[in-house]
Amino acid sequence: MEKIATNRLDRGFFKYQKEFEDKAIEVLRSGWYILGKEVASFEEEFAAYIGSKYAVGVGNGLDALYLAFRALGIGPGDEVLVQGNTYIASVMGITMNGATPVFVEPDEYFCIDASKLEEKITDKTKAILVVHLYGQASNMEEICAVCKKHNLKLVEDCAQSHGAKFKGQTTGTFGDIGCFSFYPSKNLGAFGDGGAITTDSPEIADTIRMLRNYGSEKRYYNKVVGVNSRLDEMQAGLLRVRLSHMQELEDEKRSFCERYLKEINNKAIELPKIREGATHIWHQFVIRCEKRDELAAYLDSKNVGTIIHYPIPPHLSEAYAYLGVREGSLPITEKYAKTVLSIPLYNGMTREEQDYVIGVINSYERC
Ligand SMILES: *Cc1c(COP(=O)(O)O)cnc(C)c1O
Repeated sequence: MEKIATNRLDRGFFKYQKEFEDKAIEVLRSGWYILGKEVASFEEEFAAYIGSKYAVGVGNGLDALYLAFRALGIGPGDEVLVQGNTYIASVMGITMNGATPVFVEPDEYFCIDASKLEEKITDKTKAILVVHLYGQASNMEEICAVCKKHNLKLVEDCAQSHGAKFKGQTTGTFGDIGCFSFYPSKNLGAFGDGGAITTDSPEIADTIRMLRNYGSEKRYYNKVVGVNSRLDEMQAGLLRVRLSHMQELEDEKRSFCERYLKEINNKAIELPKIREGATHIWHQFVIRCEKRDELAAYLDSKNVGTIIHYPIPPHLSEAYAYLGVREGSLPITEKYAKTVLSIPLYNGMTREEQDYVIGVINSYERC
């Protein structure tokens, strides 16, 4: 068997090749490439899909996070609670505004541990950033209760959770703002960079529309110093095609993961768990293994690709050395960084490829 990569973006393209190509030609021929009818239509359709009143397209997921905290007025002197085991962009969205991230340990589902929020709240705490990591909804009931009790803003990092639900409600509608990335490998992926925020507040939607376009509502009249972070017409058009197939894409990935859950049967490996009341849209299928590096090397030797999400937790990265959060202070986060492993998963994966991955994983013998 030829090497099975952890992700195959080409399969996702060829699945709807004609539709993508027709849309690309339509946009190219339209003569309008930034903030036009494709972006406006995508924002409407994406808001309807998520169940929020508004969606505003931005340049990427990091910008969505940066603009979300900026629109909420969170900055220097303010603290934001965030889980330790996340992609570093979550943390950068906080620190780019001059605010301070305060790390909270994750639960057994890889999301922020709601029972450990209150012990981290101080006079300076202004918000909680929940990350629905790997595609599974966080424990929103308890998190929303803590926000209400302590009058905190709630921002959701939904970069990995397009369409995931908690008790029937879609992630990105619980907080003041939901932040989405359409990086090509995400469940709703563009063919380049893209992002969006969702909100029910008309004021927040207007503020982000203004900030993303140099701080102007009307061309050449600039109210504040904004940024250039616009979703472009080509990406918006292609995202509309992908969005129209989201249910099918989600169902396909789920069926692959149900097989993995049922058929991977190796005592050395811990399979991902699903929270009661939550849905998982399987951005990644993340297993855990004490001898993770040995397992990864074995799989590689058998032509099964793997990837670690993420090997260095943000508090131990060089970029955040200045925060002074020492090694050992977040033992669960640090343990996950040493034991997690993402195995091949992508739309268009063949039955033979799944069979092979399952067989090889089951054949691994712990030394
Ligand atoms: C991908 C991702 C981001 C950043 O998105 P970009 O579009 O790459 O800027 C933020 N948070 C999480 C959890 C992500 O997975």
